[in-house]
Amino acid sequence: MNFDYTDKVKAMRERLLAFMDEHIYPNEARFFAEIAANRAAGNAWIPTRIIEELKPKARAAGLWNLFLPRSPRAPEGLSNLEYAPLCEIMGRVPFAAEVFNCSAPDTGNMETFERYASEELKDQWLEPLLRGEIRSAFLMTEPEVASSDATNIQCRIERVGDEYVINGRKWWSSGAGDPRCAVYIVMGKSNPDAPRHSQQSMIIVPANSKGIKVVRPLSVFGYDDAPHGHMEVVLENVRVPAGNLLLGEGRGFEIAQGRLGPGRIHHCMRSIGAAERALELMCQRLNSRIAFGKPVSAQSVWHERIADARCRIEMARLLTLKAAYMMDTVGNKVAKAEIAMIKVVAPNMACDIIDMAIQAHGGGGVSDDFPLAYSYANQRTLRLADGPDEVHRQSIAKLELARHMAIKTEVEMPVTRGS
Ligand SMILES: Cc1cc2nc3c(=O)[nH]c(=O)nc-3n(C[C@H](O)[C@H](O)[C@H](O)COP(=O)(O)OP(=O)(O)OC[C@H]3O[C@@H](n4cnc5c(N)ncnc54)[C@H](O)[C@@H]3O)c2cc1C
Repeated sequence: MNFDYTDKVKAMRERLLAFMDEHIYPNEARFFAEIAANRAAGNAWIPTRIIEELKPKARAAGLWNLFLPRSPRAPEGLSNLEYAPLCEIMGRVPFAAEVFNCSAPDTGNMETFERYASEELKDQWLEPLLRGEIRSAFLMTEPEVASSDATNIQCRIERVGDEYVINGRKWWSSGAGDPRCAVYIVMGKSNPDAPRHSQQSMIIVPANSKGIKVVRPLSVFGYDDAPHGHMEVVLENVRVPAGNLLLGEGRGFEIAQGRLGPGRIHHCMRSIGAAERALELMCQRLNSRIAFGKPVSAQSVWHERIADARCRIEMARLLTLKAAYMMDTVGNKVAKAEIAMIKVVAPNMACDIIDMAIQAHGGGGVSDDFPLAYSYANQRTLRLADGPDEVHRQSIAKLELARHMAIKTEVEMPVTRGS
């Protein structure tokens, strides 16, 4: 495996780092101040001006849609391995990815459109998404059932003539709070009597369809994540044309696998960026504060923690790059163990390092005077979103156990032959 950055990626990396220095870090406070002002004025769900101002600058700098995999509509798209170091840099600031049109869940949704939608649906929804004019949401999780097992999903998608009628209640629909969110990808059951993994389908639903009600925003450790948000959404007798069904009835799981692989690794890349920034802030703080007659950084306990943090970031980055390399070379299906591993490793690593950085900042660390508390809240959700740790560990363990059964058989075979 060769993880060297190509010349193209090196050049993009330099441009991205410069953009972060010039436009992202200096505007962090403004981003939150704008949202706070909107909230105080009675509506936090207004897109920030700062992101809209920065988007054209990012496009002009050639830093737009970097997540795009190679495809007919994006012949110059990047591979996962090429995107990894760029996505990591964006992960250093929670709102940065949107400036480059690389934010979740839109990236995963765009990939879903690209892979599974008709050309007509691509023209209607993918094109404005790629231009950053609209936003989207992915509606799978439901309040009434344990949704980490997606076979539990209850939302109904029923064919009636030339349409599908959708009824269900979803929650944690990220991005559905944004007034620009124009389209949902909804997972539901079209064939309840089919085999367990063939009951589900995915369908495109315009967000302004009759029968859709955004009930409420959910909070994450008290943050509303406005103007993006995580919403509870009710769909009542929502009707869409039959052509809005992706790929065909009963193929929802197949699409979910295709969609969630890249989405997961993007989260992990950003987690590494968040951890790098926390370590940087931790070291700066420890060097700058004197306690008990010496810089806090001179206490050996902090040497232990800093060293541990550096080791864990490097390990997580290498595993991320390996997973990205495998996705590019042997495909998401064969890379499933690596994707599951990094989905467990990266957010846990980031949570632990941000937690150390919070400790290093004393009381300031848990306040919003520093970006650490919000970053922790973000990273902690990734131990749940896109599947909880336990489910990914279960997949890893099953693959590992199966591997040893195979090896055992191989080992035993010569004995059998010899006897
Ligand atoms: C900030 C945030 C954003 C999200 N965005 C979206 C989104 O955009 N779209 C969307 O559809 N969903 C989204 N989700 C939902 C997320 O994907 C689900 O919360 C997750 O899949 C878990 O489902 P659940 O909440 O129903 O938990 P449950 O399925 O009820 O699981 C609860 C707990 O049970 C345990 N558990 C489950 N299975 C096992 C097992 N096999 N072994 C051991 N323990 C197990 C785990 O500890 C798990 O956390 C988001 C969640 C968060 C927090």
